[in-house]
Amino acid sequence: MRALDYIRAGSIEQAVNTHSKSQTAFFLAGGTTLLDLVKLDVMQADQVIDVNRLSLKQIEVQKDGSVRIGALVTNTALAHHPYIVEHYPVLSQALLSGATTQLRNKATTAGNVMQRVRCNYFRDGYSPCNKREPGSGCAAIEGHNRGVHAVLGTSDQCIATHPSDMCVALSAIGARIEVQGAKGKRSIDFLDFHLLPGSTPWKEHALQDDELITHVLLDAPLANSKSGYLKLRDRASYQFALASSAVILVMHGTTVGEVRIAMGGVGTRPWRALEAEHALKGVTLTPHNMEKAAAIALQGAKPYRHNAYKIALGQQAIVRNLSTLTA
Ligand SMILES: Cc1cc2nc3c(=O)[nH]c(=O)nc-3n(C[C@H](O)[C@H](O)[C@H](O)COP(=O)(O)OP(=O)(O)OC[C@H]3O[C@@H](n4cnc5c(N)ncnc54)[C@H](O)[C@@H]3O)c2cc1C
Ligand code: SF4
Repeated sequence: MRALDYIRAGSIEQAVNTHSKSQTAFFLAGGTTLLDLVKLDVMQADQVIDVNRLSLKQIEVQKDGSVRIGALVTNTALAHHPYIVEHYPVLSQALLSGATTQLRNKATTAGNVMQRVRCNYFRDGYSPCNKREPGSGCAAIEGHNRGVHAVLGTSDQCIATHPSDMCVALSAIGARIEVQGAKGKRSIDFLDFHLLPGSTPWKEHALQDDELITHVLLDAPLANSKSGYLKLRDRASYQFALASSAVILVMHGTTVGEVRIAMGGVGTRPWRALEAEHALKGVTLTPHNMEKAAAIALQGAKPYRHNAYKIALGQQAIVRNLSTLTA
């Protein structure tokens, strides 16, 4: 096992400055992703900077109804916060569908955004994997690619899905990621935060090396909306999505006033289905129109040997979610 330095940061500035001096330092939050991968030597750390003492644990409701979530707010605290439960059911449901109670008690908001892929070949530490070892190949493309491999946003370099449930809800809601680095603060639109694998699958997000996520800012909830998260998986608990959908819906009678749709389990990043939303706005929400929009959402899909079923499953995740919200 590799030796590493453990540093407990007393301030954001200390965390960021320490990180900026090392190429192989990682921030430690709940540790539910990081510690596994460091022990497996998949993430090679020479320094771990514990950020748990930083004052980033608040959930603040703003005057306009939007919400500012501290990076260290746990998945449990966020899922059960009364304002989130009432105004963002899609987010609460997505969080509660993830992992287990014990894991959610440790897992943080920023850690969830930054979690790594669940591809077996990435995690085994020796198979060809462009994400772990650039240029080594991708064992999943011709290998076992049924569960945690994507049909949208893939490349000939990497096909792993983004595993987060929470991030699918954030894509539908609309959010910004606030970060602080050695050069100052900035904020990043959530839809631009996770990167497609393209020819550089080891670059997963828009953070600079030394930047710490400090907050996630949720857009204000849509007035008179209903929302829900539907996760389809091999078993009902402790399992990642094969396909999932986050839907936010505002109806004017039987007509769709506003709709937001995002998908999990099918894309290499949390997948916002903007064209499907466009197809539904202003139309009557009939079964035919729901199926048409769901087909549009998956129209660019590229199946691999074992995951072609995800195209139909992803469509059903959208149709069922819409139907449930209007039942
Ligand atoms: C058995 C198991 C089942 C799971 N099932 C699900 C599931 O069904 N759905 C789901 O969505 N997730 C699931 N997860 C993943 C879980 O949600 C993540 O492990 C968790 O959210 C990560 O949060 P953390 O605080 O523990 O992050 P850590 O492990 O501490 O960190 C994860 C990454 O984020 C970085 N990081 C942490 N904080 C910051 C910050 N403030 N700024 C910048 N970078 C930061 C770390 O350096 C590291 O690279 C599962 C995990 C396990 C182990
Ligand atoms: S799908 Fe991505 S993470 Fe998995 S082996 Fe291929 S390159 Fe690695």
